[in-house]
Amino acid sequence: FAPWDDPQAKPLIQFQNVTKRFGGFTAIDNLSIDIFEREFFALLGPSGCGKTTMMRMLAGFEKPTEGHILLAGQDIDPIPPNKRAVNMMFQSYALFPHLSVWDNIAFGLKRDKMPKRDIEERVDEMLRLTRLEKFASRKPHQISGGQRQRVALARSLAKAPKLLLLDEPLGALDKKLRQDTQFELMDIQEKTGTTFVIVTHDQEEAMTVASRVAVMDHGRIIQADTPARIYETPNSVYVADFIGDVNIIEGRATPKGDDSYSIDWAEGQTPLQATSSAAIEKGQKCHLAIRPEKVTITAERPADAANAVQGKVHDIAYLGNLSTYHVELPNGTIIKAQTANTRRISRRSFSWEDPVWLSWTATAGVLLAN
Ligand code: ATP
Repeated sequence: FAPWDDPQAKPLIQFQNVTKRFGGFTAIDNLSIDIFEREFFALLGPSGCGKTTMMRMLAGFEKPTEGHILLAGQDIDPIPPNKRAVNMMFQSYALFPHLSVWDNIAFGLKRDKMPKRDIEERVDEMLRLTRLEKFASRKPHQISGGQRQRVALARSLAKAPKLLLLDEPLGALDKKLRQDTQFELMDIQEKTGTTFVIVTHDQEEAMTVASRVAVMDHGRIIQADTPARIYETPNSVYVADFIGDVNIIEGRATPKGDDSYSIDWAEGQTPLQATSSAAIEKGQKCHLAIRPEKVTITAERPADAANAVQGKVHDIAYLGNLSTYHVELPNGTIIKAQTANTRRISRRSFSWEDPVWLSWTATAGVLLAN
């Protein structure tokens, strides 16, 4: 399933050069993106970058100042919110406290005057889908937070929208329940085939549930790609830094041919070796982004390492399954190396102030031209 890589695939949603201004402030800045049927698309970015504004434009609560939004090829601008095949699930769930679970789910269908028999069938189907059959007659205050979240989901899917917008849908749940619910959400999305667009502050959540993640900044999408590509091949320092932990080393590149570069980065240090598919000119400023888990920490200088630097252990973060070592180089640079604690070992194989070597291969990092 990768319609975004298929030039023939027809998008369900198209943002075409969409700009949204509030007075003199540009909240969405000439943004274009295609979202495909059955996608689970996540919007990720710092507070104020325009995630909610994108959702509100899809739902019809806001209109683009410039540009167009198409749903199944049709400009949705003239279509009022309640006539769009789009539903929005809010973080607060907005359940009716005096109505049972069953009536909460049936609410929109009754309002649409759907025949009674069809309503019953549809509500029962939604109860099965969200595993709420046993709770149909309970009121929202008589069920748990996780169950309330599922009622809200069942209600938003009852009318079989083409597109469901989820604004921090799991924000009210504690971490463990949140993680379990992420898998449930993926399962329900797959079963119904509905396109989901989710806004979340939690990058792990976006990486877990989404088919593609869009990393936003100041009303623009900086990169929209699969979680693996976002993590492995970020297109910028911004994206590399936003997702997960990363070492960013600034330097000046010298091309050596075949995508290989030598990078001068610190006085008295051997140049680093890296590869990049981006064309970087001689002397151009560049950044090498390396994930801590790609950096190996050893007591002795490793033989044949493309890159090896010496430093001292400055800090250790023990995370149970992983340990992250912060190693200080003679010039004050800190480089993080992460090791997997796969064997039952002592908490620390290196201690504070230990002299260590850090090494990585020429292809371990991503060399960015910006
Ligand atoms: P958060 O993660 O904090 O919810 P967000 O990425 O969803 O942030 P938006 O709510 O889309 O951000 O807001 C984007 C920018 O547009 C913000 O700077 C916000 O202050 C501004 N904005 C949003 N709605 C309005 C409005 N109705 N009038 C004026 N400015 C607005």
